[in-house]
Amino acid sequence: MLSGLRWRVALPYAVLIWLLLLALAYWVSGTVCGGEMGCRQTWLWAAGLSGIPLSLYLGRQLAIYFLRPIHQLTLVARRIASGDAAARLLPARRDEWGELIHAFNAAVDNLHRLNTALAEEQQHLTTVLGKMGGGVIIADKDGRVRRINPAALALLDVARPGVVGASLAEVMRHHRLIEAWQECRRTGQEQNLALELYGEKQTAFWQVNIVPLAEANTPGYMVLIQDLTEIHRLQSVRRDFVSNISHELRTPLASLKVLVETVHDSALDDPPTARAFLQRAETEVDAMTQMVEELLELSRIESGKVPLRLQATPVEAIVLPVVDRLASQAERAGVTVLVDLPADLPPVLVDAERIQRVLTNLLHNAIKFTPPAGKIHIDVDVSESERPHGQKSFVSGLPMVVVAVRDTGAGIPATDLPRIFERFYKADRARGRGGTGLGLAIARHLVQAHGGEIWVKSKEGKGSTFSFSLPAAE
Ligand code: ADP
Repeated sequence: MLSGLRWRVALPYAVLIWLLLLALAYWVSGTVCGGEMGCRQTWLWAAGLSGIPLSLYLGRQLAIYFLRPIHQLTLVARRIASGDAAARLLPARRDEWGELIHAFNAAVDNLHRLNTALAEEQQHLTTVLGKMGGGVIIADKDGRVRRINPAALALLDVARPGVVGASLAEVMRHHRLIEAWQECRRTGQEQNLALELYGEKQTAFWQVNIVPLAEANTPGYMVLIQDLTEIHRLQSVRRDFVSNISHELRTPLASLKVLVETVHDSALDDPPTARAFLQRAETEVDAMTQMVEELLELSRIESGKVPLRLQATPVEAIVLPVVDRLASQAERAGVTVLVDLPADLPPVLVDAERIQRVLTNLLHNAIKFTPPAGKIHIDVDVSESERPHGQKSFVSGLPMVVVAVRDTGAGIPATDLPRIFERFYKADRARGRGGTGLGLAIARHLVQAHGGEIWVKSKEGKGSTFSFSLPAAE
């Protein structure tokens, strides 16, 4: 079947050919029939009738020939439309058709280049949005989400399926954000707002900018969300740190001042009293020196400047020296220290000196907070039980050895437990007992530097169990 255009081209050719055939028949009949009209008419009728299909056929062939470039262009255009970007036509002719094919190819090349550039830009945009820490939402002029990056999904706690196409109000789900967007839409002005979101665990701080996009073809809105919670937290940690350190130094400094003044004013003439005062002054100086040393140690550990000399070490080589060192202190306090070391413990991969420091801090606290006649157990285990926070019991496939220091002491109030490993944190009742409040912070950093975890379970009045895990050596 010929399409409409081909028929329209073929028919005039067919008519022309038919007329030529008739003319040919007329000329031939003149030669063959001479002047006999009947014979000539027969010739003309025969040529006329039989010439119809022949001229239609020839007209069709001519139409096909002349329209071939259009047919080929159509096929190539269809292939390009279905995604075959490399499809092209070879210009086999030098006439107007050849020029059309040239122009067509150039247009397709151009389109292809534009498409590639656009796809690259889209890819860059997707990568940038994906890597951005802040949340970004791009919406159209009706406030329907067109793009949203993973950070925004996480901050707004929404899942990607169904988000694109949803309204900003549905996605943002916070009345102040929705109000700000409506204001931006009404006034065409950028809106900035700081949000405090009170959660169960902590308060989040967001800085949000809603910017109208004024591009002529695609007007819309961009919402930028920056999560400043961590910066706020660090600021408050720094504030607490400065206030804690000032507080910790103020007390010994004040007593030092009193002691020195007393010696200066009255005790100089009374050497025994002066000596006693100076001894107390020395104790205060020692306490301050210890605090400064612990602070330095903590900051060195925190900044990763403490190189760990990791070696496969038997667990008893860590536990027994510490127990020995603190035996006399335990004896003075009237508490018993019991050690339970299973026979088949694997060695641990640690810097023995540092881990001894951890255990010393824990045992020292246990002795300090356990009343006379109390008991302290040091248990070591490879079991996976009783890990907090779903902690993994295997680091790179190796088992973890868990050391627990269990006492029958004062225990720690539940309200203090979550903060007990913070530097300078002391449960209220411990404030009078000396100590810097840095021991557990140092212990936590050292254990974490070894790839382990430290945690505590405690019941007020019953006792506490501090445990830490260490990677077993291969
Ligand atoms: P400190 O030098 O004050 O002991 P730590 O960081 O070692 O500092 O301990 C912080 C706080 O944790 C202590 O002040 C005390 O309130 C509490 N604590 C630590 N260990 C125990 C324990 N075994 N029993 C009761 N409370 C403890």
